[in-house]
Amino acid sequence: MADIVIIGAGPAGMSAAIYARRAGMSTVIFEADMYGGQIVNTPEVENYPAIQKISGFDFAMNLYNQASDLGAEFRMEPVVAIEGDAETGFRVRSEYSTEEAKAVIIATGAKNRHIGIENEERLTGRGVSYCATCDGAFFKGKDVAVFGGGNTAVEDALYLANIVNKVYLIHRRNEFRAEKALVDQAVANDRIEIVTPKVVTALKGEDKLTAISLSDMADGRETMIDVDALFIAIGQVPAAAPFAAVVEQDNGYIVAGEDCKTSAPGIFVAGDGRTKNVRQLTTAASDGAVAALAACDFVRASR
Ligand code: NAP
Repeated sequence: MADIVIIGAGPAGMSAAIYARRAGMSTVIFEADMYGGQIVNTPEVENYPAIQKISGFDFAMNLYNQASDLGAEFRMEPVVAIEGDAETGFRVRSEYSTEEAKAVIIATGAKNRHIGIENEERLTGRGVSYCATCDGAFFKGKDVAVFGGGNTAVEDALYLANIVNKVYLIHRRNEFRAEKALVDQAVANDRIEIVTPKVVTALKGEDKLTAISLSDMADGRETMIDVDALFIAIGQVPAAAPFAAVVEQDNGYIVAGEDCKTSAPGIFVAGDGRTKNVRQLTTAASDGAVAALAACDFVRASR
């Protein structure tokens, strides 16, 4: 039996692992997809205190190495359920194994929102992508589109503009949600064409994406542009569905205050999957520390 099982190896989960291991707790951390989570998709992190600039990938690898060197046991297995309770102990079931735990930290964060249109799943990996830093290099010298109006979309457009011939930055409103400094850079970039207020309504192509249809939000007019890739960056949705039966949720987010305590004693939540206002790298790391120290207290009290 592990003292603490952490579900999700993003910045919140791996920060929790660092704190849990440094407190001497045996710690198992499950990850379904990619160590680092969403931050791996960020080309440059420039707002983490004391680190002026670092790629999201390097940030994630540094965290992984730090937690791993401290003795956290990583398992690349998707968790499907948490069973048991604080009295009898928890059983965290993945698709391949079951780990018993005295306390559990859910740090599954969020996953990319899909547009929900025809061909989106079929053309994913064939021109449709949710990660510019992962897939941008495949489209050197081509014309591509980015869909979204937040920091991720604008950062993706700026990153891609260094690689591709042209970037269409498509957003459903004329005003961007992204920080002004980023939007100003995009507006000033000759390789970026801002296309608003429009939404992507259709994806064309048999073996690979060849064009996208857009609908104008003001007059409903449909247009089509030829592109080799569409990078979808329209935000995230929480990834806590497997835990709906064990912890209280609000619109898919796990309900907890700044103490990271869920409705179930012994189960804690850290990171973007928690009900909160600010979802940033700094607050994910902060949640990881708070949840881990609360879980450590819980384990000590139950000994
Ligand atoms: P976000 O801030 O939630 O922005 C999502 C964008 O997608 C919004 O512009 C939204 O439009 C649009 N959108 C949402 N649903 C849509 C739909 N169904 N169809 C079309 N458009 C849709 O997401 P994000 O950019 O991924 O950022 C997530 C969080 O990470 C934010 O807090 C962000 O500040 C942070 N972040 C920070 C950095 C950084 O500081 N360097 C980098 C990346 C991300 P509306 O604007 O009209 O709602």
